[in-house]
Amino acid sequence: MQGRQEAADKEDAAIGERSKDGARTLRLPTWVVAALYPVACLAPLLFAAKRDVVPTSGWAIAAAGIGLVGLASIAAQFVTSGRFELVSGRLGIDRVMAFHKMAALWVTLTLLLHPVIYVVPTFLADPALGAERLVAYHTLPHYRSGVVALWALVFMVVGSALREHLPLRYEAWRAAHLVLAVVTIGAGLHHAVSVGRFSAAGGLNGYWWAVGAAAVGVVAILYGLRWAGLNLRPWRLVSVTKLADQMWELNVQPAKGTPPLFYHAGQFVWMTEGVRRFPLFDHPFSIADSPLRPGLSFVVKEAGDFTNQIGTLAIGTPIGIDGPYGSFTLEDHDGDAILLIAGGVGIAPILGILRDLVARDDRRPVRLAYAAGHPENFAGKNEIEVARSTLDLETLFLSEEDTPGWDGETGRLDADRLSEMLRGLDPARTVALICGPGPMVTAVADNLIDLGLPSDRVMYERFDYSEGTSRLDRRLKGRLTGLGLALLAGIAAFVALMT
Ligand SMILES: Cc1cc2nc3c(=O)[nH]c(=O)nc-3n(C[C@H](O)[C@H](O)[C@H](O)COP(=O)(O)OP(=O)(O)OC[C@H]3O[C@@H](n4cnc5c(N)ncnc54)[C@H](O)[C@@H]3O)c2cc1C
Repeated sequence: MQGRQEAADKEDAAIGERSKDGARTLRLPTWVVAALYPVACLAPLLFAAKRDVVPTSGWAIAAAGIGLVGLASIAAQFVTSGRFELVSGRLGIDRVMAFHKMAALWVTLTLLLHPVIYVVPTFLADPALGAERLVAYHTLPHYRSGVVALWALVFMVVGSALREHLPLRYEAWRAAHLVLAVVTIGAGLHHAVSVGRFSAAGGLNGYWWAVGAAAVGVVAILYGLRWAGLNLRPWRLVSVTKLADQMWELNVQPAKGTPPLFYHAGQFVWMTEGVRRFPLFDHPFSIADSPLRPGLSFVVKEAGDFTNQIGTLAIGTPIGIDGPYGSFTLEDHDGDAILLIAGGVGIAPILGILRDLVARDDRRPVRLAYAAGHPENFAGKNEIEVARSTLDLETLFLSEEDTPGWDGETGRLDADRLSEMLRGLDPARTVALICGPGPMVTAVADNLIDLGLPSDRVMYERFDYSEGTSRLDRRLKGRLTGLGLALLAGIAAFVALMT
């Protein structure tokens, strides 16, 4: 009996060691990503500035500059889709998706101006002739690939903005998004090298070929390599348990020959099941588990086609796991105390972090607030309460609605309740992790900063890529706008240099 316990302890220690080492995927620091972005997008202007071309008007230089930077920015969108840990590992999926959406909008708006700016001087001299030239740009075969690229881009951006209102399954929208992205970059590159004043030859021509090769590489990694990984290294569903109303816990274990996953508590994976183990069908789910425990656990709420049938999956179903991703972890964020806040199914990563703190016998004070719509929506309530015997843990279960038999608190997680949770802790040395619906995350993040938590110790994750309005979201938007302005300044400098 003792021997078996020792063996289990050794296995636990081995998993711990492996997880400590293996979870260190290469992730570029945020400032490096922020610096690389304008460099990559403005690089075509540097190549163009070296080209000896026939002198032309400032308007034509500006139009060309917008086209060059716009095309490079579209290429950059391929690696800001949240799938490359190298790029988004430290930023987190929320920030990367916020950037992806904002950049898409700017690029589309500026590229719509690309043909218009070319005709401004003609239009100013003779409006009818200017309009005629604009129509010619859109109809002449010479410019066809550029028009195709522009329309594909517009369809992609408008389709994404209206996605929730379209009668399309998420997977169909995603497939269309992929096809339109490939058409945009392919046709855009063709347009640049076939009609571009600066791109026909020389270093810039080589740059565009390299960009094309990189885009092909990205698609091959996302849909080829990952598809192979999902099928060659399958996991198996070991159990499905109903945790709460419309909420299920899945336990999956690596199949024979599949290596364990090295991750940090709080990260997420892209999951597929059965014969649909193809990246187009994957869904993101937080790991509700500790890397010190074997296998993976997920808490899934019924929300649509895929999740509604999660409770009926047969035991033994092959599961595809691609990950880990995300920065919603305690790694790199030290603190003397930990505040965990969950709303609804946001409990999934919070439960993972709590299980990890228990597994590591963490001695720091932990406060956990869990808000749900109804008392029957609380998932893992017993386990959380049991964790109080191991950890220095205080909990608050908050139901929005009161129902007969509920003797806990009701209402919202407002500033007073948060202040109460922080009682006895030094806010400046407390690290907070918040996961839940958008409005709740916004309100809680703002309140915690007001209560003295440093903004770099307030971390959050939303499950729906929705636009946030918290102070941290606004600060992020300000920084992203700064990146956009840097690109505009680069184009202005290019025009000044070339005219
Ligand atoms: C980082 C992250 C972690 C998440 N962790 C969890 C978790 O631990 N537990 C949980 O229950 N839910 C989690 N979600 C949400 C979960 O991924 C969606 O609820 C699920 O994908 C819905 O799929 P569906 O087919 O059932 O519903 P659908 O009707 O297809 O979609 C409902 C909504 O879910 C979103 N969604 C659907 N498919 C995807 C997809 N492939 N990628 C991104 N968003 C999608 C869309 O906003 C869509 O409008 C997480 C989401 C993110 C972004």
